Amino acid sequence: MTHVIRNFAAGPSILPREVVEQAAHDAVELDDVHLSVMEISHRSPFWANRMKEVEANTRALMKISDDYAVLYLQGGATAQFSMVPMNLAAVGERCDYILTGGWSQKAAAEAEKLGREVHIASSGEEGGFTALPQTHDLSDETAYVHYTANNTVRGTEFSELPEVGDRILVCDASSNILSRPLDVAKHGLIYAGAQKNLGPAGVTLVVVRRDLLERATWAKPTIFDYKLMAAKSSMYNTPPVWSIHVLGLTLEWIARQGGPEVIEARNIKKAAMLYEAIDQSAIFRGTAAEGSRSRMNVCFRASSDELEAKFVAEAAEVGLVTLKGHRSVGGMRASIYNAMPLEGVEELVAFMKDFEVRNG
Ligand code: PMP
Repeated sequence: MTHVIRNFAAGPSILPREVVEQAAHDAVELDDVHLSVMEISHRSPFWANRMKEVEANTRALMKISDDYAVLYLQGGATAQFSMVPMNLAAVGERCDYILTGGWSQKAAAEAEKLGREVHIASSGEEGGFTALPQTHDLSDETAYVHYTANNTVRGTEFSELPEVGDRILVCDASSNILSRPLDVAKHGLIYAGAQKNLGPAGVTLVVVRRDLLERATWAKPTIFDYKLMAAKSSMYNTPPVWSIHVLGLTLEWIARQGGPEVIEARNIKKAAMLYEAIDQSAIFRGTAAEGSRSRMNVCFRASSDELEAKFVAEAAEVGLVTLKGHRSVGGMRASIYNAMPLEGVEELVAFMKDFEVRNG
């Protein structure tokens, strides 16, 4: 028996079928240029125009004003863990971090390594990062406050922005970018690795308020300089042409769906359906606290490691793949990013019910 494969991977992860098909076409030959998108010069007229198009679509979907630069950089979100402190805080200057799991811990560690004075404003570590911290002990004077909008590993997500007054808010939006509207104007900087909701791995979107680019007069590696990258439209050196092109196709798909508001409504429905199935089950339980639950990464456990392994293996046999939780926490994780259709979640819920009948 053959099944449609439903890919619940956390990233790289599911992309819309239409995007993959267009990318496959363009990988062979772009219609007007008669070259593969992977062969084309980043200094060609085609690419100059494509970069403009991708940026215009990013700005339109995220409602980004001209006060912000939009960059497409390499090195993953992990490079941003270093670039943010390197560009926004001087050595010895204080910066605040809200800790919601491994990703924000890694971001804070990088700032510390670079000699910035890291202040942990709040942390969910005591509760095993299953709940988001509700209050934050923010520094009076701080270069910025960094938070991770969605914790991909623990399956927690801020539903409201952290309240930081007039401090500069920096967001790692890698795992929920464009899954819901995000108020860019409330942020100094937003970054997101592409490989969840934006396209393939290899490019990271950075949206940064232009006035902040003037602060970093100190030396930093050329490739880690936001101001330079902004001045060169992300093309100081060779950009990841393929990844940016497919990111562009994904943005066009989001626009065709009706934009982040329509996508959000779908995501609410998908997540509610899955959490309801978990809450009603006698053998599964959700791991994220009520009120902190992610719409993107739904983490749950069964009563034993053996039962979890059996669930993951049997689900894969019917085409529901990559449901194993992150290696650091175990259990199961269903990543239901923008491109996961409602039918994929319905199939997972039906399989969970069937599995429970057989193993309850
Ligand atoms: N931040 C978050 C929230 C993540 O989920 C990840 C992993 N994809 C990262 C940062 C690190 O991203 P990358 O692998 O692109 O460096």
